[in-house]
Amino acid sequence: MKVTLSDSQIDYLNNKLIESGYSVFTQKFVFEIQEYLQLSWLQIKRRALNRGIIYKQGFLYSEIYEGISSKAIICFKCNACQIEYKILYSKLLSRNYDNKYCGKCYIKFVTNSEVWKKKNSEAQKIAQNRSDVKEKNRNAQIKRHQNPEVKEHYRNLGKNLWKNKEYSNNISKKILLKWKNKDYADSVLKKNKWLYQGYFENIFYQSLCELSFILNMFYEKRNIKRYDAEAISYVDQNGIEHSYYPDFIVDHFNIIEIKGKKNGTYMSTDDVELISLKKDAAETKFLNTLYNYRIIYIFEQTKLLPINFYKLAKKVHNGKINKENLSSTYGFCF
Ligand SMILES: [Zn+2]
Repeated sequence: MKVTLSDSQIDYLNNKLIESGYSVFTQKFVFEIQEYLQLSWLQIKRRALNRGIIYKQGFLYSEIYEGISSKAIICFKCNACQIEYKILYSKLLSRNYDNKYCGKCYIKFVTNSEVWKKKNSEAQKIAQNRSDVKEKNRNAQIKRHQNPEVKEHYRNLGKNLWKNKEYSNNISKKILLKWKNKDYADSVLKKNKWLYQGYFENIFYQSLCELSFILNMFYEKRNIKRYDAEAISYVDQNGIEHSYYPDFIVDHFNIIEIKGKKNGTYMSTDDVELISLKKDAAETKFLNTLYNYRIIYIFEQTKLLPINFYKLAKKVHNGKINKENLSSTYGFCF
């Protein structure tokens, strides 16, 4: 039988929605109801859906943060007509003027020359404010994440998600096959501007770090393949759920995530936090199984190895070294 929300839970949610003053749950309410119901947003959404009720979440202007999904729903009351308006974040960003107008009022504002003239100076000011607003929101977000309780909260949410059988069983099996599919890998290759992607011995890599790890494993005669097991679900710092696929499986039971430099720079603090959220989710998932989960930092490792596999990876990728060279010069066995 499908798990659903109880009548009193529905009542609670509907009252919260009225309290929020919007037709979607803004982030403040999303946090509050997750806490109160002791359920993740995803669980709430699914259980409501099982009763035919659709709840959505959205973001107030003040809740926008750096790195928010372009598909996030931003909601506000129109400054001109006062009617609630919802817009995708990507659409909002494409606007020239950030004046909290609904679609209709915005078009009037942009096309009405009288208004245009009158508001021009004001509009410019607003456009300038836009980066200020962003900066302010970003700082608020950073502050929030610095709070260890908030961090712990999301970590636990992520963990609880996996304890929920209904949830873990429902994960799409389709995506599992993706990495096995050369067409998929090729489409990733086309879509992304990543420089170093390709196949080594039929194993797809999407960075020199990954290739250097593959080479290292071949050199050590280890069994390595692309991660092809179930997706690992985790909830990010903002309560948004994602699927995560580690990079490789080595010797059948060691699940490996490769980390290195990104775009020539070291990882940002955001990345560090995300890595730890993913790590937590993976470790929880593989707890009491035969699998181990390990993150390997290529640049720390490079110093310890007899061969600089990173340098080698570059040569292999560029075709300057082939399989024969690897055997004869470096002692690889294939
Ligand atoms: Zn309006």
